[in-house]
Order: sequence, then structure tokens, then C-alpha cells
Amino acid sequence: MKVPKEMKRYCPSCKKHCLHKVKVEKNRGKNKTHPMTQFSSIRLKLRGLWMGVGTGNSGARSRGALNSWKRYNKKTTKKPDFRYTCTECNKASTNAGGSKRAKKVEMI
Ligand SMILES: [Zn+2]
Repeated sequence: MKVPKEMKRYCPSCKKHCLHKVKVEKNRGKNKTHPMTQFSSIRLKLRGLWMGVGTGNSGARSRGALNSWKRYNKKTTKKPDFRYTCTECNKASTNAGGSKRAKKVEMI
């Protein structure tokens, strides 16, 4: 996917179209951004339900093969997390409708 470094789009705080700088944010993983969601490792540890390290044979044999319990290498693409910073009010906004999947993002 080729994305321009600067593009003109609607700014919700200026309430008009302005020039925006485009930046791709790094994916920090679900446990970092939402630590208390259902079935997150941090929440399961607090409730004493974590079946990771500590169960049976310290997770060496009792968990089975990695791709039997972990969603492992299922998807080959990622949804890039774009941040658009307004050059007039310097506020950042995201793509409300979400972004399309892409193997890699290239800035032009
Ligand atoms: Zn603005």
C-alpha cells in the first residue's frame, strides 16, 4: 500500500479540510493497549486462571504444540494504524472507518 506523506482531509476540530501529515503507529499488541479485556493474560493472572507457565510441566509439554492453543501465523496481512496530524491546529485524528489490510505500507 502506497500512502502519501501529506494529504488534504477533513479535520474534526477545525471543522474544515486542512493539510494533514500521515504517520503509521506501531502495533503494541492487545495486552498492552487493553490490559483488562476478557481473556487477556493480565486479567487471567489476577483471577488465578492463567494456564500459561506454572501449569503442569511448566508449559513445556502440557500445553501441546504452539499452533494448537495459540493463534499462530493465521493472517499474513495487518491493518495499519494511521495517525493524521493537522498542520493548522496540530491535533491528531485516526481513520474512523478503519483501514484496509496491507502486507506493507510505503510512504511516498
Ligand atoms: Zn485542524
